[in-house]
Amino acid sequence: MTVLRVGRTPDHFSTTATYFNGFRSNAATVTLTIDEDTQSLVGLADDGTEIHWPLSDIREVPDQAGGDQMVLQRYDDPVQRLVLADFELAPRLPNRRKKLRTTKRGPLIAWAVAAVGSVALIIFVLVPTMANQLARFIPPEGERALGEVTLQQIRTALDQTGLNPVPVCTNTEGLAALERMEERLQAALPEAQSLTVSVLDHKMINAFALPGNYIVFFRGLIEKAETPDEVAAVFAHEIGHVASRDPTRHALRSAGSLGVLGLLFGDFAGGAAALLLAERLIEAQYSQEAEAQADIFAHSALLEAKIAPDALATMFERFRELGGEASPFVAHFLSHPSLGDRIQAARDATPPGFEAVPILSAQDWRALQNICD
Ligand SMILES: [Zn+2]
Repeated sequence: MTVLRVGRTPDHFSTTATYFNGFRSNAATVTLTIDEDTQSLVGLADDGTEIHWPLSDIREVPDQAGGDQMVLQRYDDPVQRLVLADFELAPRLPNRRKKLRTTKRGPLIAWAVAAVGSVALIIFVLVPTMANQLARFIPPEGERALGEVTLQQIRTALDQTGLNPVPVCTNTEGLAALERMEERLQAALPEAQSLTVSVLDHKMINAFALPGNYIVFFRGLIEKAETPDEVAAVFAHEIGHVASRDPTRHALRSAGSLGVLGLLFGDFAGGAAALLLAERLIEAQYSQEAEAQADIFAHSALLEAKIAPDALATMFERFRELGGEASPFVAHFLSHPSLGDRIQAARDATPPGFEAVPILSAQDWRALQNICD
């Protein structure tokens, strides 16, 4: 390697070095000089890289070649290298013997990937497994408390401002009509369920069940139903979820995952978590199997109560039609691709010539439709 002396003064330094950018294996050649104004080592490598290294940032890579060449790097850049044929530059590098920064980026990234991986493992594998175990041992009071708290969260989350929880509808005649509907269904169940049924004053076309045997309708669903049988069919489907305790497992799983996220990232602990949780519980995306089971439960309860399971099909079809304007939340009933199959199953469950007995009088039906007035 040749050392060119361009100027006569010892300060006017110039040398040819080999430059490695660390990403491509080929070396480039560069003529280096010192820019006295900025106190930097400068040059343009023949691969186009502009070198501008402040002298004070330059460190010597200890004994790499083990010979008479000097290998340099920047303290803040672990990959680039300049290889000089001699040590003439050494007196101009005030910090060349200082220690390099110890951060090793590779292992840091590997650690981050591993951490994300283990969080994913916790959320998608451990929490669901634990939720199923936990659901088996949670006492009825615990379940009720969980349901009550989540219902409050949902009511709060559904309000844009978070200040005025969505009201529970309390029209007396409407509630009486809803109770008559429940009695008729209860009488048809294999075993009675103690239910807490409420209607939320919100236009969403949806209904869902919560832990502790809570069943919640939205005003929108009752308004958009054309017959009380359609509401009863949805009611029966939700009772099916309650009977198999789907909401408890689902809520534990959702709360569990969000709890884990909350532990890791403080942000999740506050309102965002509550909103996410509320959203998840309203969407109630149970497995296809859980939905099919709830439908089967509904079909037999409806038949027993002298209501055509066909009403479930009609309601599902209405959900599908109205899906576009449903709400910012995806309705529980629209979340499954197999809606067509479920409609067909409800039709098939209705025997030909089945004689239904109206579940509500015309007067009760009117009262139910105005339950939020
Ligand atoms: Zn369902």
